[in-house]
Amino acid sequence: MKTKNIKAFGTEAVNVPLHSMNIKRRELMPHDVEMEILYCGICHSDLHQIKNEFGGTMFPIVPGHEIVGRVTKVGEHVAKFKVGDLAAVGCIVDSCGKCEYCVDDLEQFCDGGVTFSFNSPDKHLGGATYGGFSETYVCNENYVLHVPESLDLAAAAPLLCAGITVYSPLKHWQAGPGKNVGILGIGGLGHVAIKIAKAMGAHVVVFTTSPSKVKDAKRLGADEAVLSTDADQMKRYIRKMHFILDTVSAKHDVNTYLHLLKPNGSLVLVGLPPEPLEINAFSVVSGRHSFSGSNIGGIAETQEMLDFCAKHNITADIELIKVQQINDAFIRLQKGDVKYRFVIDMTSLKK
Ligand code: NAP
Ligand code: ZN
Repeated sequence: MKTKNIKAFGTEAVNVPLHSMNIKRRELMPHDVEMEILYCGICHSDLHQIKNEFGGTMFPIVPGHEIVGRVTKVGEHVAKFKVGDLAAVGCIVDSCGKCEYCVDDLEQFCDGGVTFSFNSPDKHLGGATYGGFSETYVCNENYVLHVPESLDLAAAAPLLCAGITVYSPLKHWQAGPGKNVGILGIGGLGHVAIKIAKAMGAHVVVFTTSPSKVKDAKRLGADEAVLSTDADQMKRYIRKMHFILDTVSAKHDVNTYLHLLKPNGSLVLVGLPPEPLEINAFSVVSGRHSFSGSNIGGIAETQEMLDFCAKHNITADIELIKVQQINDAFIRLQKGDVKYRFVIDMTSLKK
């Protein structure tokens, strides 16, 4: 298969800072779209992966899966995009297309194994897929999203992972009027979850470990904000929540939060702490509580989420950086020092 060399930012090993490198993108197949990448968000999953915290990172790695750009070339059979269109790629770039989950628009659960935009076996070129910290992206048009023109492009990039990851469970567990929805953690995912849950009509209560974020949570749209390290504040929420979305990236005590659920309530994990979490039997048995999880969302639902965000004028609160600042950004993300998502201006890669 013919390939093209492009510039990217990645690393060959844990503890080696990300740096400029050349990677290959495939030449277009008949249903492929090529886009110039304009913006790419930095998700905590990129950080987990470059640190190989889940094991199995395929080096060299080029992270980035919140990709927004403009179409520069289309394959001969592409019907959904034309050159010049805005386009986006999130976490999923391929799946079998035939299994019961793909047919149901749940490609993230594909029986044949979903291909992610980075650090996933590349079916065409071998090795691993390379993500959006790069000049261009190439993939089948069925996995490319349309970006509503009204959205600020840089601030919309985080919707491609953070947005869909919180929209999908909020919708599945029916966040809406009359529901008390708790959001754990105000990071990239959490701050978008506040905005989406509020737009769905829920009563939103945020639980944060950071005193500086308590006030900010209300600006972001939360009805109530709770400092989770304050036992007295926490007591007031016991048996109050219908649903809790847990976006915390590190090991934490989920039992504390399971006790905040009403009977029949659900706590849904989307955060990916690398270490196992411990659950006390009484945290779920008392009150018939459910402890569950959710993983990104399918392509059709990702498009639905983008359209929902355009309708409600929802984007992320971002700090725009140049690609050369990426290693500092990862250090700050590790410390929780970002309000609330770093987005890279990928045109800086050309310099
Ligand atoms: P992030 O911006 O770093 O936010 C994580 C937040 O968790 C922090 O802002 C902090 O919020 C809280 N937190 C961090 N360490 C904590 C600790 N030790 N104890 C309690 N709270 C702590 O990360 P993100 O990009 O939103 O991603 C969050 C998690 O979701 C990551 O693990 C990521 O890999 C995962 N993720 C999962 C999916 C999926 O499909 N399931 C998709 C994308 C990302 P406060 O300061 O408010 O306490
Ligand atoms: Zn992500």
